Amino acid sequence: MNTPKRVYLFGNGKAEGSAEMKNLLGGKGANLAEMNLIGVPVPPGFTITTEVCTEYNQLGSAKLREILSADVHNAIKHIEGLVNMLFGSAENPLLVSVRSGARASMPGMMDTILNLGLNETTIQGLITKTNNERFAWDSYRRFVQMYSDVVLGLKPESKEEHDPFEVIIDTVKKEKGISSDLELTTDDLKNLVTLFKQAVEEKTGKKFPDDPWEQLWGAIFAVFNSWNNERAKFYRKLNNIPDEWGTAVTVQAMVFGNMGYTSATGVAFTRDAATGENLFNGEYLINAQGEDVVAGIRTPQQITKIGSQRWAKLAGISEEERLSKYPSLEEAMPETYKELFTIQKKLENHYRDMQDLEFTIQEGKLWLLQTRTGKRTGPAMVKIAMDMLREGMIEEKTALKRIDPAKLDELLHPVFTKEGLAKAKVIANGLPASPGAASGQIVFFADEAESWAAEKRKVILVREETSPEDLRGMAAAQGILTARGGMTSHAAVVARGMGKCCVAGAGALRIDYKNRTMTVNGKVYKEGDWISLNGSTGQVLEGKIDTQDPELSGDFGAVMQLADKYTRMKVRTNADTPKDATVARNFGAQGIGLCRTEHMFFEGDRIKSMREMILAEDETGRRTALAKLLPMQRSDFEGIFTAMNGFPVTIRLLDPPLHEFVPQEESAQKEIADELGIPLEKVKTRVASLHEVNPMLGHRGCRLGNTYPEITEMQARAIIEAALAVKTRGIVVLPEIMVPLTSTAAEFEMQENIIRKTAEKVFEEKKERVDYLVGTMIEIPRAALTADKIAEHAEFFSFGTNDLTQMTFGFSRDDAGVFLPVYLEKNLLKQDPFQILDREGVGQLVKMGTERGRKTRPDLKVGICGEHGGEPSSVEFCHSVGMNYVSCSPYRVPIARVAAAIAALND
Ligand code: PEP
Ligand code: MG
Repeated sequence: MNTPKRVYLFGNGKAEGSAEMKNLLGGKGANLAEMNLIGVPVPPGFTITTEVCTEYNQLGSAKLREILSADVHNAIKHIEGLVNMLFGSAENPLLVSVRSGARASMPGMMDTILNLGLNETTIQGLITKTNNERFAWDSYRRFVQMYSDVVLGLKPESKEEHDPFEVIIDTVKKEKGISSDLELTTDDLKNLVTLFKQAVEEKTGKKFPDDPWEQLWGAIFAVFNSWNNERAKFYRKLNNIPDEWGTAVTVQAMVFGNMGYTSATGVAFTRDAATGENLFNGEYLINAQGEDVVAGIRTPQQITKIGSQRWAKLAGISEEERLSKYPSLEEAMPETYKELFTIQKKLENHYRDMQDLEFTIQEGKLWLLQTRTGKRTGPAMVKIAMDMLREGMIEEKTALKRIDPAKLDELLHPVFTKEGLAKAKVIANGLPASPGAASGQIVFFADEAESWAAEKRKVILVREETSPEDLRGMAAAQGILTARGGMTSHAAVVARGMGKCCVAGAGALRIDYKNRTMTVNGKVYKEGDWISLNGSTGQVLEGKIDTQDPELSGDFGAVMQLADKYTRMKVRTNADTPKDATVARNFGAQGIGLCRTEHMFFEGDRIKSMREMILAEDETGRRTALAKLLPMQRSDFEGIFTAMNGFPVTIRLLDPPLHEFVPQEESAQKEIADELGIPLEKVKTRVASLHEVNPMLGHRGCRLGNTYPEITEMQARAIIEAALAVKTRGIVVLPEIMVPLTSTAAEFEMQENIIRKTAEKVFEEKKERVDYLVGTMIEIPRAALTADKIAEHAEFFSFGTNDLTQMTFGFSRDDAGVFLPVYLEKNLLKQDPFQILDREGVGQLVKMGTERGRKTRPDLKVGICGEHGGEPSSVEFCHSVGMNYVSCSPYRVPIARVAAAIAALND
């Protein structure tokens, strides 16, 4: 059996690993190796592979130590040879750092351990060698503190308590009447080491390990253990990182940024991670070790002069004070700065992407400790990709792949100003259902949202959950907040369609409609109080926060052009109004994939005629009411056809169960009765008869059109008449009439007959024809299974993956919010299937439906119009099954365009 290579050495310009070996060495280990290879100064060290992490989980620490012992001893020897020091020596001790590093960077997994190897003996060597007693004892107390926290797990006992070591430090400082760590004397630091060790023994019942080898093994195993700590698991879940990957461990010779005033430590970015500006930037601290920069105890200084001046201006600090107290590295250590500047350029050129660096300066000598691809905001992502393309650093396909489609969202919606957010208080969290930022006064009822908005007041509509009746109020509100419902709840879907900010399912809200209050964790908010929503994070915040419009720069357009150049699938939009259609067109939508006609029935007086139709006793009564709806529908369709001139428009026939259109409250029922001149009792009886136990599986979709063919007739007529009308005005119209909720070929056939007969009638009346298609939603498992039969009649398929997910899992779209979070938490589901298409189950039906449909009709046009149509990984799946297009809400169109192009590039 081949023994795998478990340990990879690096140092002095040589390395056994390289940047390509991220899977095995983790990002950190691979890049440290690579930096050696390209001549960047890096302290020597070694990396234990991610595969060993898996072995550790299987074999446990004792067995693993046995297997790994010889390799680790050799590796330490390798470092000793290069730095001319000895691990555990009393004269010339080698100290090391131990750090974790997975394939993907996972902030918050494990903290670094610095200064490992110190004990009562080796510290003497450190003192003699550096001739700096205070530095040595400071390093020692930092080591004991870090090691006890990270390896020995000495944490505060409850979340209300402070770090036990900080408590000790504070006590010492208080006794001495000093405020800064820098004022601690050598004796204080010595005393702290003793106190820390005592605390360890008290709390763990064991002595702090003094043997450097014990320290090292403890640290290595702690890194492996950290792969399975709660923070790491949570981070993996959030970012879809597989549990199997494991972490690598990197051990490196220490370099010290805390050796006095010619030493420093810092972090830097080769470009601005917030804006993308091509400007080297970062922060550093003189006479400090790594954790001081992030700990927020001292104010870090800027690396560049220009950065420092900008910072001082924001902080209201004069140029004199800046120069004396907070000089930039460029000003404080000009030579070292120059070297750092050259290295960052070299690294960026080498990796051809923005880098995030860690460095330490030990007595004037610069060392790089890490480089990795820098995380960035959506706007920075776009700017950096396009800048690098223009600079000739990357080519088009790479630039496109640098775009994370989901992050484009950040560019499309208003955002809170930084200053505003810094001051705001988060009161609850919900699902980030529709991105953007909104502030407004609380209202609990849709009609009030409308009337307040008409008075130019900004409102947030707060509801338990929303229904189609709330549509106008939602449109009038700045944002929507619901206490219940998931990512495909009514509120979420509609808000995304409107490009309106929405936080859904904020479970902590207790809404009292009667008293017009909402209570969150005991605090009561009344109608009219100001709140703010961050639809990108799901945060609900107190008060009003300033927002600003996003800037869609030229770079955004350039990304879109690139996407169109490489994509295969088309992207359409889900839109019910000419306004939405126009927005989507401006975002590059090439047609409408779903126009939900039911939304039109809520506008203005239409709801009255709709209700009249529903309450009618017989077909004649229904036809009378439908005749009133016909011209309204026709003019709606004319508007949409006009907005989509030249592009196909898929119009879906009436889908929801009829009870959604009639009011449940008696007062509203009375109003209708009066209007129609019928007794209230009649209205009540009819409403009661519409009640269904499972309306989602009830009298809806094509079942309505097959039981009341006159509804389909009216809608088909409205569509065809509208098409003819706009055609005479020179509009290029391509109507596609779509039957919802088909489960059998016969059902579809009946609808198709009605549609085609009606169309022929209209053509005869108008002495003019127009081409149109008749197709169907595939959103019931049976339809996917019998797609070959359905395709004998249907000219196109559009997968309704909202319903298809609902019916495949048997999860109600409206009620799954109760248990889905628990399922995700317990790992019973990896993702919310209503957000990310479930390839394993639902995906099979989509694939099968497409294949079977095309077996009958090879040129069958296939698309998707469920919410998944705008979700990048689902879009990738749609590409892989050979769909012709995806359709999504207007604000997701750019996201889908890029996702589709990247899918084509990766194909
Ligand atoms: C679907 O079910 O995926 C769909 C698009 O239709 P709706 O959401 O209107 O039910
Ligand atoms: Mg549906």
